[in-house]
Amino acid sequence: MRTRLLLPSLLLLGSLSLTAACSSGSSGASDSATAGARPGPSSGASPVRAVDPSKIKGLRIVNNSSENSSCPFATSYPDVPGAAAMADAMKKDVEQRLARFRSMCDDSPTGADGRELNISHQFLVASGDVVGIRLTTQEQGTAGGGLRTRTFWNDGKAGTYRTALALVGDGSRDAFVAALKEQLQGREGTDADRVDEAFADRSNVVGILDDMAFTADGGLRVTFDRDEVGAAPAGRYVVAFSKATVTPWLSAFGKRAQQQTEQPSRSLDLGATATPTPAVPTHTASDDDDTDCEKVHCIALTFDDGPAVPETGTLLTYLAQHRARATFFVVGQNVAAHADLVRAEARAGHEVGNHSWNHPDLTKLTPEQVTHQLNRTSAAIKAATGTAPTVFRPPYGAINSTVRSATSLSPVLWTLDTEDWKYPDAAKIAEAVINKVRRNDVVLMHDIHATSVAAIPEILRTLTARGYHFVTVSHLRATM
Ligand code: ZN
Repeated sequence: MRTRLLLPSLLLLGSLSLTAACSSGSSGASDSATAGARPGPSSGASPVRAVDPSKIKGLRIVNNSSENSSCPFATSYPDVPGAAAMADAMKKDVEQRLARFRSMCDDSPTGADGRELNISHQFLVASGDVVGIRLTTQEQGTAGGGLRTRTFWNDGKAGTYRTALALVGDGSRDAFVAALKEQLQGREGTDADRVDEAFADRSNVVGILDDMAFTADGGLRVTFDRDEVGAAPAGRYVVAFSKATVTPWLSAFGKRAQQQTEQPSRSLDLGATATPTPAVPTHTASDDDDTDCEKVHCIALTFDDGPAVPETGTLLTYLAQHRARATFFVVGQNVAAHADLVRAEARAGHEVGNHSWNHPDLTKLTPEQVTHQLNRTSAAIKAATGTAPTVFRPPYGAINSTVRSATSLSPVLWTLDTEDWKYPDAAKIAEAVINKVRRNDVVLMHDIHATSVAAIPEILRTLTARGYHFVTVSHLRATM
């Protein structure tokens, strides 16, 4: 297997920070439309109610990403038991956008040409028989910042997926659209003709009105992507209706979604016939690791982009069987969904590092956005494990002085890239590590891929027999 180091083989030593960033950074109740990706005036900070996804039984976050700076992408969407049609709709949306992006990389000799695709998710409501999710697509490097949002709804009572427009009753759509037009006309960057034209084609309307969400007080916010009804100078248009205004226009499902957002019940029941909840490994490290990497041969295995179900649990079992320690660079939105797995990682003596909230190229963000990405994730890790991280790995290994000075976390890159995301073949991945690894290597892998996890027993067996010890990144730094 061809292993090409995408970045200088450099384990960034030094600047070890003893002070971890652990402030929460933002209140959960004021999540922005960009799910923490790029907060700013254009994203329309939405006072939606915070949802704790770790309470959703059987939830699985479907992740895909490359760590390749020539075609950088990271996508995620939730798969909620009992809401298969909604997951299918999100899957289709994500896969179409990703396929377009990848073919663009393939067609260009210079790869993505600075472009980057990021699709993150945010729960709007998960209560009673209603689930609402917003997917935020950011395609950096495209006109207008390439920010698009769409909300997906699941009606558990009817057992069906619903679009945002289904929140409005059929008989009220004309009145609803008329009210929206009135609100939009006169806004900077658009005019009456532009707005009329956008809504003239009725088949267009479901696509334009694809981001609606209730606020904690029962109001409704309708968000328009940049080019849908005008070229908003600040980015996007948001129209907000009060509860009193919007309620008469709502469908029966819309009223239930409104009520479950305003007054969430303690449970979610979509009538799923089975909610598989894979067991979380309970291995507990008996004591501190006393491996001296000056005396013995050490390797630091690192696993990025998780935690993921069921892959991370399986990996933890393999590591425990071989008494191996590793470092997990976790993505905040996955920590929120699978806090129990992050807790299991820490309990088993592994190191938990920060890999940002939703995997953007941090070098393309403002210092405030970098800090937000990292602080929000550190807070989620601390909430799950009781300990804030001290290290972070920048997505795509992309780092510059702005990123460094925006955090007190110590950056960690890698010295051996397995390219496991590119070659979904366990034997090949195992071979790449076994043949290429050298003393004190920091090995880059991803525990969102079943094939990467499947390669681990062979790697641990063979390299342990050759006298290698598997330690965490911070342990390696402290003792090599
Ligand atoms: Zn990553």
